[in-house]
Amino acid sequence: SAKGRGKNRYAFYSEEMNTKSHEKITMEASLRKALEHEEFRLYYQPQVDIKTGEIKGVEALIRWQHPERGLVSPAEFIPLAEETGLILQIDEWVLHTAVRDNKRWQALGLPAIRVAVNLSPQQFSNERLVEIVSKTLEESGLDPKYLELEITETMTMDVEHTIPKLKQLHDLGVQISIDDFGTGYSSLNYLKKFSIDRLKIDQSFVRDIISDRNDADIVGTIIAMAHNLGLEVIAEGVEEKDQLRFLQYQKCNEVQGYYFCRPIPSSELEQNFTKLREE
Ligand code: C2E
Ligand code: CA
Ligand code: CA
Ligand code: CA
Repeated sequence: SAKGRGKNRYAFYSEEMNTKSHEKITMEASLRKALEHEEFRLYYQPQVDIKTGEIKGVEALIRWQHPERGLVSPAEFIPLAEETGLILQIDEWVLHTAVRDNKRWQALGLPAIRVAVNLSPQQFSNERLVEIVSKTLEESGLDPKYLELEITETMTMDVEHTIPKLKQLHDLGVQISIDDFGTGYSSLNYLKKFSIDRLKIDQSFVRDIISDRNDADIVGTIIAMAHNLGLEVIAEGVEEKDQLRFLQYQKCNEVQGYYFCRPIPSSELEQNFTKLREE
């Protein structure tokens, strides 16, 4: 009967929901444990000057060294961390660790570079963000210009709040970049009002730069426009020499991607720093 089917369906859905939420609860608990037991790791991917080949900065990218599952990628846990609010603590851990690592590289005598940290939407709208960043810098003794904060284009939609927030952060002396640029809706008008240093062209445009005339045009336009506004441009996801050549021709400032280096642990970066710069 219809009534019977309805009942079955109800039972089916609620069971599925229970399994889902059970998985989530387990995952949330292990994320909390990961924070406590320091199971997170930062990997660093070099950002290279397109003219000189020098490393100008590195982007900090989080991984989870899970006791049973091994190295877990951020795509698998950042969404739940955002949903549960744990991302606030994770972002803070990333900030502390990245700043401390950068200070250590300088103490080892390596050339001074920026370290770029990804901010989640929650952290960007956190009232305490400016305080957290300035405290972290103070405690570490790192010159603020060697820290970069990456926010995504979609996080800047609320323009009225974004303008003063970016100014406060910028006034600390840190650098600010707009990540995944080209995928959102920032208008030129607003970009002008934002206290930012750099645009990061999204890798989806870089991927087909050689085969897709449209993407090539978009990238060329973004670079010219950014330069007119006094901003630097970095392209991410550079995997091939032809992509690099095109970006050189378009006068892109920096590049990041597997062509140069995958994200690597701090120890590997320290060991290979000189070699990476010469490649
Ligand atoms: P994202 O910020 O856009 O980071 C760039 C991603 O592209 C990284 O993936 C990087 O490993 C990958 N990548 C770099 N070069 C290449 C290349 O040449 N080809 C290809 N196909 N990919 C390349 P990853 O490390 O898996 O991070 C994925 C996303 O997770 C990041 O995207 C970012 O949104 C988020 N994420 C990573 N670390 C953090 C973090 O510490 N905090 C927060 N809030 N989010 C993070
Ligand atoms: Ca990023
Ligand atoms: Ca990106
Ligand atoms: Ca395309």
